[in-house]
Amino acid sequence: MHKLVRFLKPYWWMLLLNVALLFAQANADLALPDYLSRIVNVGIQQGGIEHAAPEALRAETLRRVQLWMTPDERAYISERYIPLDETALNYSELTARYPGAAETPVMVVNAQGRADQTELDAIMGKGMLANYFVQQLTADPERTAEMAERAGIKVPALPPGTDLYTVFERLPAEQADAMRAGLTKQFSAMDNKAIVQAAAPAVRAEYAALGANVDGMQMSYIIRAGALMLALTAAIMMAMLAVGFLSSMTSSGFARDLRRAVFERVSAFSAGELDNFSTASLITRTTNDVTQVQMLVMMFMRMIIYAPIMGVGGILRAISKAGSMWWLIAAAVGALITLVMVIFILAVPKFRIIQKLVDRLNLVSRESLSGMMVIRAFNRQESQAARFEIANRDLANIGLYVSRVMSAMGPVMMLIMNVLMVSILWVGAHEVQNSSLQVGDILAFTQYAMQIVFSFLMMSFMFIFVPRASVSGRRIAEVLETEPTIHEPATPVALAKPVRGELTFKDVAFRYAGGEEDALRGLNFTAHPGQITAIIGPTGSGKSTIVSLVPRLYDVTAGSITLDGVDLRDLDLHELRSQVGLIPQRSVLFSGNIESNLRFADESAAPEALREAIEVAQAAEFIDALPDGMSHEIAQGGSNVSGGQKQRLAIARALVGKPPVLIFDDSFSALDYRTDAALRQALSRYAEASTLIIVTQRIATIRHAPQIVVLDEGKMVGLGTHDELMANCKTYREIALSQLSEEELQ
Ligand code: ADP
Ligand code: MG
Repeated sequence: MHKLVRFLKPYWWMLLLNVALLFAQANADLALPDYLSRIVNVGIQQGGIEHAAPEALRAETLRRVQLWMTPDERAYISERYIPLDETALNYSELTARYPGAAETPVMVVNAQGRADQTELDAIMGKGMLANYFVQQLTADPERTAEMAERAGIKVPALPPGTDLYTVFERLPAEQADAMRAGLTKQFSAMDNKAIVQAAAPAVRAEYAALGANVDGMQMSYIIRAGALMLALTAAIMMAMLAVGFLSSMTSSGFARDLRRAVFERVSAFSAGELDNFSTASLITRTTNDVTQVQMLVMMFMRMIIYAPIMGVGGILRAISKAGSMWWLIAAAVGALITLVMVIFILAVPKFRIIQKLVDRLNLVSRESLSGMMVIRAFNRQESQAARFEIANRDLANIGLYVSRVMSAMGPVMMLIMNVLMVSILWVGAHEVQNSSLQVGDILAFTQYAMQIVFSFLMMSFMFIFVPRASVSGRRIAEVLETEPTIHEPATPVALAKPVRGELTFKDVAFRYAGGEEDALRGLNFTAHPGQITAIIGPTGSGKSTIVSLVPRLYDVTAGSITLDGVDLRDLDLHELRSQVGLIPQRSVLFSGNIESNLRFADESAAPEALREAIEVAQAAEFIDALPDGMSHEIAQGGSNVSGGQKQRLAIARALVGKPPVLIFDDSFSALDYRTDAALRQALSRYAEASTLIIVTQRIATIRHAPQIVVLDEGKMVGLGTHDELMANCKTYREIALSQLSEEELQ
């Protein structure tokens, strides 16, 4: 897999941008529940009051609030509240918000106070709470007695209307301190947030007393928080769009580059490497396997990076919201990890099998489709259909198994999530009752829990997809890592011009990769220019193998082949191949028309050259008979022309460049004797200076050749003319006698 990473290099900046966007998106996603909890906690429960330290309050209220503070706290507060007068910068703004300020002296928080808001809230919150409590105490003795009893404070029965503050101020210091301590003791267990929440009604009442529109304040707080949430959501949407765009661009570009690389590598393969991979497998690797890896890149950019950011961020935030419930999340995450592990163990080993089965299915379908006519002719439809059926069923079964395992995941995930939600509400409700947690925090906590679970869901996808894609990645890397065995020479030797085309085989031996024994050995002969060298031998004797050594489709394993005295391995491959015209045993035509096929070797061939080639190849007659002549359409693989026509077109194609070396591998087999003879005659005139190598099984074809190589089981068992070989080569004589009568041979 990591071997394919280099294909991502051109897209590094997209990846980087993508990661940055995901970070931004995760942050925004994680901020949303926080705003929700603020709307609930501050906007609704605290009536829109954010701080326990009022922005403005009556001077008299502040004096009373300060009574309940220690001397240090009192001094601290005195430094941070100043009288509001006309010289204040925001005087008009403040008087507009608090109209009461025009009539009574009002204190406002100064800049220093605003800077220490948290500390200020803690001290003022307690003071405001105590004051509120005392206020109620004097206003409604009955309710107060009840509250005092609950709080465990002993309150002396006072006649209604007694100004408790006056009493308090006149108390001796120790008594006043004791009373203060008694009153504030109950706040000591409360954390900052709880104090702010408890003091909020006192602050709100003070604002109301100053004539402020407290309902409007609340509304505007909620609207502000809501608007921020909307803005965040819009930002998330933009980030998601951008991530979608970037990941699609990157993954499809990556896949395109990968397919190109695989295709180029396969094109550079020599016949040896192609023997190793089946065609079907190479096709699967360039299509299906690349798609798997492409999907992974996309998932990586959309989810795999995102999930951990989200998971870790969610856990941190959830714990900061309600740390006491961390164990609930830990339990859920533990359950999720177990689930993913189980699925991992069950499903992942199957992925490798799936890719193999896809290969098999491809192989069987390819064979069935390309061999359809033969299958019908032999009435093998049923057995072929059965083969397909088996391959298809195997793939479907394993796919089904994997899907079943995967589909179990969804419901179990939901179960875990729902149990988690219920537990959070259960535990949270108790904590709210103890006022160690706020309602909004539970809401936020449940949302974080959801986000954490989802991020684990995404990560589990990663566990499923990464192994699957890495199977595919390995299969692609296998192709990319296979070095073609046919190399260009580091410093090619140039052939002397004009090229004569003298081919010399010296002690040549060859063995197919993985073969047990040599397919060829001990070959020693020279094919001279202007002369026919015939190669004859029973099937399987290695004739086609010799032929494939000349254009270096394979390299010799021992000995050497030289062209005009230069070892083939020292020649530039392109130069070598343009000197050799090979007509393979099985002619292959490409889709297009006759002309495009003829121009295959030489795009710029003159029309006269094409004409000459088709005339020599004895193809002119049938081409001229076609209504559209040279522009006659050729179907894929040349399936719409007869075997003999195909062979003649393949011969003409090789002749077009008039190469110095022409090799015919059993190329006249589909021609009738008359055409065969005519072709050979025309050929010897057309290519009189060329080296002609003619592989055949027909004695008649080569009987007059000046040099005949006889092969048997890869060994050269004879070399000479027909008459010489008849006299002293047993193999040759046997072949000859099997084809011609004694008289004919004389
Ligand atoms: P001929 O053309 O004389 O009929 P070939 O040259 O095609 O014979 O084959 C010679 C021998 O090499 C045969 O035994 C054949 O099985 C083997 N052979 C041919 N092609 C391959 C290949 N691609 N991989 C391994 N062995 C091969
Ligand atoms: Mg052959």
